[in-house]
Order: sequence, then structure tokens, then C-alpha cells
Amino acid sequence: MEYVSQRIKAMAPSATLAMSQKSNELKARGVDVINLSVGEPDFNTPQHIKEAAEKAIRENFTFYSPVPGYMSLRKAIAEKLHNENGLLYAPEQIVVSNGAKQALCNVILSCINPGDEVIIPTPAWVSYVEMVKLAEGINVTVPATIEADFKITPQQLESAITPKTRMVLICSPSNPTGSVYSKEELQGLVDVIKKYPDIIVLADEIYEHINFTGKFTSVGSFPEIADRTVIINGVSKAYAMTGWRVGFCAAPLWLAKAVNKLQGQYTSGCSSIAQKAAEAAYTGSQECVEMMRQAFERRRNLIVRLAGEIPGIKVNKPEGAFYLFPEVSSFLGKSHGDFKIENSGDLAMYLLEEAHVATVDGAAFCLPGYIRLSYATSDDNIVEAMRRIKEALAKLS
Ligand code: PMP
Ligand code: GLU
Repeated sequence: MEYVSQRIKAMAPSATLAMSQKSNELKARGVDVINLSVGEPDFNTPQHIKEAAEKAIRENFTFYSPVPGYMSLRKAIAEKLHNENGLLYAPEQIVVSNGAKQALCNVILSCINPGDEVIIPTPAWVSYVEMVKLAEGINVTVPATIEADFKITPQQLESAITPKTRMVLICSPSNPTGSVYSKEELQGLVDVIKKYPDIIVLADEIYEHINFTGKFTSVGSFPEIADRTVIINGVSKAYAMTGWRVGFCAAPLWLAKAVNKLQGQYTSGCSSIAQKAAEAAYTGSQECVEMMRQAFERRRNLIVRLAGEIPGIKVNKPEGAFYLFPEVSSFLGKSHGDFKIENSGDLAMYLLEEAHVATVDGAAFCLPGYIRLSYATSDDNIVEAMRRIKEALAKLS
């Protein structure tokens, strides 16, 4: 007998992880696939962080940690938020979780009642809408166009607000577009939100350090809304620690307490060893972060230049994260051999099978007609992947 709950039946699987798995399966069968699907730094975790984990094992940090994380880690995070972002959160307002992913889901499940509306600017990372569905909330997507550099305007935000709006989500730098809201652009959104005191702002700042604008403004730094802003961040992207699974929320105390209760019933504190590694990441030298940022900026310049040489695709210039989100609608309706391209999902499959390059369908990010390329890979892989994509696209007619 198979019996899957409606809740899980209604959930879409993560397209980023699914495409990456497909690419790994092809690789295991001996196919030379270049994986531009999943978004994770290709660097190894820096040595001093790994050594902190080894030390943690030797020193027997092997017992349950407190549910919201070790106090020493929460203090290190509070200091990071203060020193780097100018934010005042006490350690008690911070809950460490299994990656930014769990931190986000914890906050959504802790705030959203059935029927509450969550405003999500799109294109948006694959998991937000599914988390809101899990909480039985209503996704209110607000579309941003490539012409607007994939950013929404204050007017768009205001017209999406209703008496049922409980939360506004802001992801900057953005997955999947790499767009970064400037301080002035954020101020425009804040000027709207401040008029609606019941709205919580959920700011996903996981790509904070992968930023090519030279400055980063945290959504938490606007005093008008600071007491109802939740910051999500973690070590996955900045310190090349995706597998360690450490992220956090910094939230109003009442919400941190609710998240703590939820996490205490369903996962407990995250890995004790990974927490000690994360503490070393936050308190140790930050040179590794800048070194990786520079590599991503160089690769951004490379992929944008190469994409510009491919007829039929249109790109913006991403200012952060490690994604390019080209518009590919000029290929819809075309075909090559048995391949007929009816939508951007077909195009992503065509690129996988014909060019052996794994990408993700823009529809997974709520914007069909686009695909996402992750350039968190070597310069050589980027050059070869773009050569293959150009060749495969040229065959479509
Ligand atoms: N938010 C965004 C926008 C992301 O791209 C990711 C990447 N998985 C996450 C959150 C989750 O990060 P983590 O690996 O820390 O769970
Ligand atoms: N955030 C990455 C991505 O978008 C990792 C995979 C995931 O968790 O979705 O590809």
C-alpha cells in the first residue's frame, strides 16, 4: 500500500537538485557532462575550517548541541551581523539550522497560517513557493522582467499587498538572476513596507559575499522595519561549505523562540561538528571569502562575454551570486532531429542530451522562457560549456 499525504503530493521536487542528479547519473554512465545546474561553489572548504572540525571531534563536540546552536557560534554570528552589516541582534535572537534552507522553512512554518499571503518577487529560487505551500500559505508572485534587471518596483510591491499579506520575501543578491538591489532600491521597497506594520520581511542574504557591486546593504539595516525583519544567511556559499549544512535566522525574539520550538521537535540542533567549523569560518581570516569572490567575478565577466556571442539569447549583467539567467524564447517552436523545443524545459533537456551541459529550466524559478546557468565552475568548464551550448543552439531551426 502506498499512501502519500496531499501535502507532499502537492509539492514539486527541487528542480535544481533533480537536474544535478540527472547530470551526475549521465556522468556515472561515462558521458562527459558539464554541470551548470546546481548552485554551489566548486572550491574546497578552506583548510582552517576543516581543521576546526577535526579539533571539534577530538575535543568531543559529539553530543547534542543546544537546539538553537552553541552559544559561542550564536555570539560569533551576532558579531558578524554587527561588524559586517551594522545589525543589532542578540545571540538569543539567532537560531542555527541545517543550512539556510531549513532556516527559511522554519521561519515560514512559524509565521504563516493557512490562507496568509506571502509576496515573492520572481524569478525566485525554487524552494520558496514550495515552503509556503507546505505552510498552507498563498504565494503571491510579483514578476520582475529582464528589462528591469529582474528587480521589482515599489509600485509593484504595493499593488500586491492585501489585508492578508503576512510576509514579503527579498533575496539579494538573487538566485536565479544574480541581481542585487542597491540601498536606494531597497529604501523604495522599505518605504512601502513601513506603512504595513503587520508584514514580516524575510531577507535571504545567503549570497551577501558573492557581490560585484563593491557594497552590500542588508535589508535589516533599515530602522523603519528592523524590528520585523528576519535575516537568513549561512556558511554554504561564502565559505564553500554546502555539505556542512549550517545556516541561521536572526529574528525578533518572539519568532526566534517559535523557530526554536519547531526545531526542537523536528531536527534538534544541527551537527555539533559542523557548528564548530562554522564558528571558525565566522571568527577566522576572511581572506578565503574575498579570494572566491574575485574568482566568481572573473567567471561572471567570462560567461557574460561568451553568452553575448551566442545568437538568439538575451542576458542581463548579474551583479552577484553565481548565476546567469538568459532569455531563450527565440528558440521555442524550433527543432533538431527528434528534438522539438516547445518550452524552456525542453530546451534544458535538449542542452543536456545534445550538448551535455546541465542547466535548469526557468519555469522552476517561476519564469518560463529562460534557463539558469550556474557559473560556479572552472573557467575551462565555462568556456567549453558555452561553446557546446552555442553549437547546439545553432542546430535548431
Ligand atoms: N537561499 C538561496 C537563495 C539559495 O540559493 C540556497 C542554496 N541552496 C539556499 C537558500 C539554501 O542554502 P543552504 O545550502 O545553506 O541550505
Ligand atoms: N541553491 C542551490 C541552487 O539553487 C543549491 C540547490 C538547492 O538547494 O536548490 O542550485
